[in-house]
Amino acid sequence: MPSGIHHVTAIAGSARRNVDFYTGTLGLRLVKKTVNFDDPGSYHLYYGDGAGHPGTILTFFPWEGAPPGRLGIGEAQETVFSVPEGSIGYWTQRLIEKGVAHDPPAKRFGETTLAFKDRDGTRLALAGVRGAEAAPGWSATDAPAEHAIRGFHSVSLLLAEAGPTAAILTDVFGFVADGREGLTQRYRAPGVEVGGLVDLRTAGEFLMARQGAGSVHHIAFRAADDAAQAAMVKKLVQDHHLRTTEQKDRNYFRSVYFREPGRVLFEIATDPPGFAVDEPVASLGQALKLPPFLEGRRAAIEAALPKLD
Ligand code: ZN
Repeated sequence: MPSGIHHVTAIAGSARRNVDFYTGTLGLRLVKKTVNFDDPGSYHLYYGDGAGHPGTILTFFPWEGAPPGRLGIGEAQETVFSVPEGSIGYWTQRLIEKGVAHDPPAKRFGETTLAFKDRDGTRLALAGVRGAEAAPGWSATDAPAEHAIRGFHSVSLLLAEAGPTAAILTDVFGFVADGREGLTQRYRAPGVEVGGLVDLRTAGEFLMARQGAGSVHHIAFRAADDAAQAAMVKKLVQDHHLRTTEQKDRNYFRSVYFREPGRVLFEIATDPPGFAVDEPVASLGQALKLPPFLEGRRAAIEAALPKLD
């Protein structure tokens, strides 16, 4: 069974501004409000569709005052969401009304695509996809549900050379080559409707990335369960001489991490248990949730976090 994108995690500045943009402007649902388990003084905010399905989840580590990152080799260049084919006009108008910097819509691989940036400079795009309206969406705001974002379309990685990263995508995650446009080689996870595309952009000799606000921190790929994850880890070691971290319990999924040969940080995250493990689907994202090992420090953690409303 091929994998696909599970979630994308990026770095932001102000947490409140981040919530305003992703729920207010883009209409995503805040599906989990928790802290960075490795740095509990800062939030970890998760946005997605109504239930937080894998393949719809964009997450942020907001660090107030984080200096801006610089795009370069060895990182994700752009995160693209799917919207219905006829919705690009609506979104173009909405971005204009909200004062969001964007490019004119352009064709990519035959689809009309609208590229824009969030308030930290995170590079995003909406691709108009035929049939996207069949997938579940969420509209947290005044944006009509018919135009809502339907999860990830693709991520693009900026690389010195595509081959070594492509080998991981095809051999470990089950992607197949799916066409080329200019310097971009597309890979597709067959049968994966949401978050099934990765574009590799070859930049040759270019500056290395410097992470900061607006940068993608890592990309997580899906594993159906622990056994599927273990099989991928074994393949990475045996066939690619790449070691992952030990498995970490992220409460909503279980993860291993490794730096792929093109220098992008990859994660393999299990689909289970999902975001309803510690609060009902109906009230996802409303209360600050902490993992059991941090509950005893809740009062201090809450006092130190910036207010979101
Ligand atoms: Zn992650």
